[in-house]
Amino acid sequence: MTTKLTTIGFDADDTLWHNERFFQLTQARFAELLADHANRDHLMERLLAAEKRNIQHYGYGIKGFVLSMIETAIEVTESRVPAWVIRQLIEAGQEMLAHPIELLPHAREAVEGVADAYRVILITKGDLIDQERKLAQSGLGDLFDGVEIVSEKTPETYRFVFDRHGDGPTAAMMVGNSMRSDVVAPIQAGCWGVYVPHGLVWEVEHAEAPVDSPRFRELRDLGDLTDLLGNLK
Ligand SMILES: [Mg+2]
Repeated sequence: MTTKLTTIGFDADDTLWHNERFFQLTQARFAELLADHANRDHLMERLLAAEKRNIQHYGYGIKGFVLSMIETAIEVTESRVPAWVIRQLIEAGQEMLAHPIELLPHAREAVEGVADAYRVILITKGDLIDQERKLAQSGLGDLFDGVEIVSEKTPETYRFVFDRHGDGPTAAMMVGNSMRSDVVAPIQAGCWGVYVPHGLVWEVEHAEAPVDSPRFRELRDLGDLTDLLGNLK
């Protein structure tokens, strides 16, 4: 079955603009603040466990990350973490929420390059207000025909989004840096899934590449997207 591609979804964080590097910088600061109580590897293990536990309650994004750091700090100090450390963690999160976005190379050209010929949708997880702020700052907002800030990226999410904005998942492509959320899940929904590696990956987003799927593609960077679309025709 071939269905003409009409709709392209883009992930936002670490696909169009930097994100993970700010989390990793904050984690380094977190490790320094708690260096007297836990070594870095152990602390990061505990933090990751807290983040995974908490996604179902807080969703993805900076607010949940800060709460997970505070929870981990309480755990590893056996409830003796000083208030000034908690204050520093809250401030670190507020700095992340205020940090100006930095577009990735080829982000603008890639979205502009497809905006006339396809329906273009931004599909991202994360804190609602933060994602709205980043999209506004990016200057890319007008290029998108739709924006979906979702709590999870499952195959059902993609079916819903591409039914709503396009001609269903089989006529859609998702482009992003997370193998699990932006590639495997949309392919399971019937879309094309295009992996654009970013280098830094949050462990929760790891997945095996679906190399056996005829709808899986990998790009070196977003600059190669228009060539890929030309070759699909
Ligand atoms: Mg991403």
